[in-house]
This record gives sequence, C-alpha cells and structure tokens, in this order.
Amino acid sequence: MLVYLDNSATTRQYDEVTEAMMRSMRDYYGNPSSLHTLGYESEKTVKNARRIIAQSLGAGEDEIIFTSCGTESDNTALYGIAHSRRRQGNKIVTSRVEHPAVLEACKVLEKEGFQVEYIGVDSKCRLDMDALKRAIDDDTILVSVMSVNNETGTIMPIQEIAAMKKNAILHTDAVQGYGKIDLKHCRADMISVSAHKIHGPKGMGALYVKKGINLPAYLAGGGQERGYRSGTENVPGITGFGKAVEIAFRDFNGRVRAMAEARRYLLDGINDSIRDVIINSPEDGAASVLNVSFLGTRGEVLLHTLEQDRIFVSTGSACSSNKKGKGQSHVLAAMGLKPKEIEGAIRFSFSEFNTVKEMDYVLDRLEKAVTRFRRLGSFR
Ligand code: PLP
Repeated sequence: MLVYLDNSATTRQYDEVTEAMMRSMRDYYGNPSSLHTLGYESEKTVKNARRIIAQSLGAGEDEIIFTSCGTESDNTALYGIAHSRRRQGNKIVTSRVEHPAVLEACKVLEKEGFQVEYIGVDSKCRLDMDALKRAIDDDTILVSVMSVNNETGTIMPIQEIAAMKKNAILHTDAVQGYGKIDLKHCRADMISVSAHKIHGPKGMGALYVKKGINLPAYLAGGGQERGYRSGTENVPGITGFGKAVEIAFRDFNGRVRAMAEARRYLLDGINDSIRDVIINSPEDGAASVLNVSFLGTRGEVLLHTLEQDRIFVSTGSACSSNKKGKGQSHVLAAMGLKPKEIEGAIRFSFSEFNTVKEMDYVLDRLEKAVTRFRRLGSFR
C-alpha cells in the first residue's frame, strides 16, 4: 500500500487536469494574443480558467493575475506594495511563521530600508493578536499574514486582521488555505494561491489584487495580464489550474470532510497507541495538516523508516528541509518548542484521497518505528 501524506508539499495532479493539459498542448497550441481561431481557442481557455479561479475567491476576473507559483505571488504582493506605497509609510507587519516566500522577501525589503515587524505565535502557532494590534500604526503600509500555516495547519484570523489594519493593504499567503478554508469572505486585499497544492500543475499560481490597488507592472513587454506581467501565457498550466479548481470546489465540503476524517482517525490513533508525543497542531486547525513531535526520536529517521513501507510524510516544510545547514523549523521554534521536540516532529498532510484504512496501516507502522527508535536510543 502506498500512503501519500505529504500533500502540503505538493499533491498528485487530478487525472482530469493532466488530460485537460494534454489537450491544450496537443490541440490548442495557439498564442492567446493571435487573431486567428487557434489563438482565440487558447484565449478562451485562459478566460475560462480565470473565471473559475476568480469565482473561487469571490473576485472579479479582472482582479486575478496568473503567476508562475505561490512564491511569485507572494514576492509580487510584497515588493509591489512596498515600492508603490513608499511615500505613505515605511512599516510592514508580518508574522514569524510565514513561509520563506514572504520572510525572505521581507529581509530584502529590510535591506532597502523598510521597517518590518515580525509578530510571534503561541504553542499552537496562533498569532499574538494583541501584539499585532499594537504593531499596526499609521506608518504601516502592508500587513502580510498567511491564511493557514504550512507546518501546523493553524488557521489565522484574516477577517479579524482586516478589521484592524488601518490604512495598510492586507495580503494573505493562502497557498495552504486555498481549497481548505473559505477565502471568499476573508476580506484580504491581496491573496496568493498556488495550483500544485490543490491537485493542479506545479509552477502555476495566481495573485488576487483587489480593484483599485496600485500594483506596479513587474514584467515589462507585450502587456499580458493587464500589463502587470508580460509574457505569453502558460496556457496548459492555466488550463490545468482552472480544471483543478473546478474539481476541488465542486464538492468543497466533501473533500474537506474526507481530510478531516483521516486526520481525526490518525490523531486519535496516535494518542491511543503512542506515549510521549506533543500534538503541535491546534484542535481547530485546518483539516489538511497534523504536526506531531515524537519525543526521543528523530523525525528525519522516522520519515525514512516509514518510506520503506511506502508511507510518505515530511519533517516540516519541503522548502526548508532541502536547505542544507538551514537547521530546524523556524515555525516550531517560534512556537517555543525545544530543539529535541523539534527534532522529533513529523508533519502528516492530507488530501481527499486518504482513507481510514490507510491510517490503520500508518498507525501500525508508525508505532513500530517509534518503538524501535526509542529502544535503540534507550529513551526512558
Ligand atoms: N506559501 C506557503 C504557505 C507554502 O506552503 C508554499 C509552498 O510550500 C509557498 C508559499 C510557495 O508556493 P510555490 O511552491 O507554488 O512557490
């Protein structure tokens, strides 16, 4: 049995997505800007995908910019707003547990002279809302807080933040929230999403920019994407993204319910059968993520042990785990976990394809792996 529990890193593409992309590459290869029928067909598929994605966010079609990934969406939002609003203020407020796509961009902006304040979290990765409220002042031009944390699944209160943002633009990195929580009513001014987290193609993202927000054009050229991002559209990628969103949102609640059921079953099983664990995800977190520290073990070794049984998990975010010498999860550290507790952490992340039967298999192998590790390491 193969059990894929690394869906926060990426998901398996829906078959319908692959088929739609194949059709696009094989049959509809015209340039959307061309005046002939083949061009028109491509333009139509891009338009259709834009409509589907706009609807899923409660946005207008002219509020969506297609990008190459979630990282590009995040970078564009941060750099674009910082640079265009420089005269209005110099302060940016974000959290300590953002993805590197936001944190690294903030570091660049700090070097450019912007003041960035990083808000802390509690032991379940919940944002310190009092500190956030204190941090947002008249000089604050941008607030960027993720919708769902990629390592713990903690849902951030974006609506509440919208109510306290004063004159700032509110951006949310919703790469992990998209397709898992409702974003239509989150009241953010800008939203970053990525296709490969919801069974769409890798290398495809979008940025919602509320009408009226002044974002500088950042790729100059032929004027595609309403002039913001020139370059011939990635028609197969956009087609696949649209198809993925269409399928994922068709039965939104059913999908989330399936994830929640698998997550609940695994969590209860861990609590029942494995002692000395810390559940790092909050009770009311997203259905897609469960982060657990198995004390007296090393997550990386557990990961490779489980891999031998074709169970695929993660020690944290894929983006930070592949950086050699980068050390431990900045998210779990910000939550106050001790290095040993971080070392034993495993992230299980779910899709609607996971089943309770799979979780029985995972629990069996996990319990064995943890016991063996602890025996060898003479834990307690
Ligand atoms: N933001 C969050 C919260 C993520 O989890 C990720 C990817 O893991 C990204 C941004 C980057 O998205 P992409 O891989 O599409 O660049």
